Amino acid sequence: MSVLARTTDVTRRYGGVLALDRVSIEIRPGELVGLLGPNGAGKSTLINLFVGLRRPTSGTVELLGGSPADPLVRRGIGVTPQETGLPEALRVGEIVDFVTRHYPEALAKGELLERFGLTGLERRQVGGLSGGQKRRLAVALAFAGRPRLVFLDEPTTGLDVEARRTLWEGIRAFHDEGGTVLLTSHYLEEVEALAQRVVVVGGGRVLADDTVRAVREMVGVHRISLVAPVLPELPGVLSAEREGERTHLVTHDPDRLVVALVTNGAPFSGLEIRPTSLEEAFLTLTAQTPAAA
Ligand code: ADP
Repeated sequence: MSVLARTTDVTRRYGGVLALDRVSIEIRPGELVGLLGPNGAGKSTLINLFVGLRRPTSGTVELLGGSPADPLVRRGIGVTPQETGLPEALRVGEIVDFVTRHYPEALAKGELLERFGLTGLERRQVGGLSGGQKRRLAVALAFAGRPRLVFLDEPTTGLDVEARRTLWEGIRAFHDEGGTVLLTSHYLEEVEALAQRVVVVGGGRVLADDTVRAVREMVGVHRISLVAPVLPELPGVLSAEREGERTHLVTHDPDRLVVALVTNGAPFSGLEIRPTSLEEAFLTLTAQTPAAA
């Protein structure tokens, strides 16, 4: 199957709110796709449509060659929604057993717990877990049935750095074995660390769907940093900022700027040029969202 999940021209309204506006995206086998966008962009709505929790107002959603409304089709996926409520009185091991029993080829309990940094907690009641442990358990459960495709809605929101890294390792291990993942995130660092492909959504529209690198290049902003006692007039500078003896310049055209700098003949040293971070790219892209189109 060349596509595991697909939306075609999907629009979703909640009353008068247009949450998704003619969105078409495809998730292919083996991809780890980051869905990035500000609050209210439509990320959760898109996940909920893929996993059959919502239906589109118009357009079609395909999942594993069938419909997300079909429970048999949904058996092939794993999901962790943004909010999860696990029964506080149950033990970690009991919850894992309960979930894995629904699947013919579930992952062994010990392996699942180990992958998500939960080893040794099997007999602990959920109510006695830390916030980070609860979230890791909720995410681990999405992988329990060896799904072909996993949807994670903000898997690491509210976690500290260490808990987040443990979760990333669990997600990566699944992906390294050929698993496919669509995750939403506010953490640009997370998308950058995990995903090869990033779909940027804003105002219910797909603003970009490309590699992390291409999304950065699309925005095309570079940061040039240098030490110069006197800085000449330079072309295409979007912003300039001094930090100690260094000056940081932001430009769409670093080549032209550097040529002008050298041609000018003014002394400088320590030249550094780097592409913008995904965060900067993201802010530029979402700032360009048409308010109403
Ligand atoms: P994100 O996950 O990117 O924050 P959502 O998909 O949750 O975005 O929301 C997209 C838009 O749809 C927002 O304007 C949100 O307020 C609205 N929305 C989401 N769910 C509902 C709902 N159940 N009822 C009404 N409006 C909703």
